[in-house]
Order: sequence, then structure tokens, then C-alpha cells
Amino acid sequence: MYNTDKEIDKTNLTNMEAGIEKKEAVQITAVMEGCMDEDVKVGSGVIKIGLAGSGVTNESGGNEELYPIQYRKLMKKVSPYVDSWMKRFAKKNGVAAYTTSHPACGAGEAQGIKESDLIVATKQNAHENGIEYAGHLEISSEPKNLGDKNLEIWFTRKGGPHTADFFILTTGGGITRSEKTTVEGGHAAFDISADWVKDALDEGLARRDAVDILVFQLKLGYAIAHKIAHKIGDVSVFKVFNGNRLDSESSRVNADVVNESVEIAKQEIEKGNWKKAFHH
Ligand SMILES: [Zn+2]
Repeated sequence: MYNTDKEIDKTNLTNMEAGIEKKEAVQITAVMEGCMDEDVKVGSGVIKIGLAGSGVTNESGGNEELYPIQYRKLMKKVSPYVDSWMKRFAKKNGVAAYTTSHPACGAGEAQGIKESDLIVATKQNAHENGIEYAGHLEISSEPKNLGDKNLEIWFTRKGGPHTADFFILTTGGGITRSEKTTVEGGHAAFDISADWVKDALDEGLARRDAVDILVFQLKLGYAIAHKIAHKIGDVSVFKVFNGNRLDSESSRVNADVVNESVEIAKQEIEKGNWKKAFHH
């Protein structure tokens, strides 16, 4: 089992508010690939690996402007690298790796995938990538176990718009609940994983493809979470988080590719090339 001393005591609100990080060891119980959606929540021992729609793609249909076919193809190409890295990462930590789907998925809807079909497609994608599908998240305002695996993962949005107003890009082995609470600081953020990048490049994925899929996810998040626009111009819209669960060379390469992607995103936004889309 893996223990980290980088966790922050989330129960001690006084310390949190004072900005004092009280260290606490949290036992990692699982690694979970979930949608980048800000309302896909994990319990204290679960590491979230954020990927738009958990990497599920549909070759045609839906809104091809919001989720262009070329990016569906790219996601289909990249997601096995993400899952391959995630399996190794989970194994190294002595835990299992899972993937999940969730209600009201913007990445699914953008591709014309109905909720019932999303479950089938995520299961299928998981099977192809040799990873276990843990299930479809339940809507709950409180932490909730998914299925019978003692896996604390749930979804908090009951209709209504996205509340995310920034992005967290992870470079050092995903993000835990307490880390996310701290980084969010009372706001809400999309979680986009770049933890897999170094391994994917080593396995032959082109750097261009890694950059492009990160930029695309930022673009999709920007389109569907209207509050993000209000903070553009503020560098904090793109927060890079290193959980320090990877070797330093991996997190350095991951961060390098993240920085390149963020620069492209900023330029595109400045030029007015990114548009808002309707999504509840
Ligand atoms: Zn989603």
C-alpha cells in the first residue's frame, strides 16, 4: 500500500483557512479515470485521473463543431496510452485502476452519445484498453460508494450549469480529494490529466498529439463551462498541480507539455478563436 505525506488535513478547517497545511498520511485505495468534469468527485483514498468523457469517442454525430471528428480520432488514439500509463501507476501503488462514466457528460453529449449508450461505450472502451469499468456515477451531494468495490466516487451536479471557473492540469500522478479541495480553494475546477504524457512519448506517441489532446480538452472545457471566461486574463485559469507521485523526470516532461498546451490555449482565447457552447 502506498502512503503519502503530501495530503492536507481537510477536517481541520481552521488550519485550512489560515493557509497552514497540516500534513496527514492518506492511504491510496484506487486510481480512477473519470471525466474532467468538476462534479466527478472521489473519496479521500482515490486518485482521480481526469480525461474528457473518460476517453470515450463516437466517430460521427452530435456537435461536430464542439467535438470535431479529428479530435475524436485523436482521443481514440491517445486514450490507450493514458490507460496503459494508469495501469502501471496503479500497480506501482499496489491498487487497482478503474474507469467510470457519469450523468450529464458534456464530452458524451457533444458526440451525440446518450447516457445509456455512454455506459455501454465506456465499458467497451475499458475492455479494449484492458481496464476495469467501475460503473456509472450516482448523483449525490454526499460522498457515495460506487458499486460493491468500496470505491468512493460520485457525481454532485443535479442539472444546472457547470460551476468550474478554472482548470487543474495534473503532472505528478493525478489528484486526491483533499488536494483538489485545497487547489480549488472554494471554487471548482476541471481536472485534466497530463500524468501519462512522458510514458506515452516514450512509447512512441508524437509530442504534437499529446499537446493537441490537452489543448482540445481545454477548448472543450472552455466551451461548456461559461464561468471560465470570466477569469480569462488571470493566469490562475490554468493551474498546474504536481502530486509528487511520479519520478521528477516524468513530472518535468509532463509539465513541459502542459505549459506548451496552456500557451496555445491562451493565444487562441486572446485571438477570440474559442467559443462558448450551450450545455447544461
Ligand atoms: Zn463528462
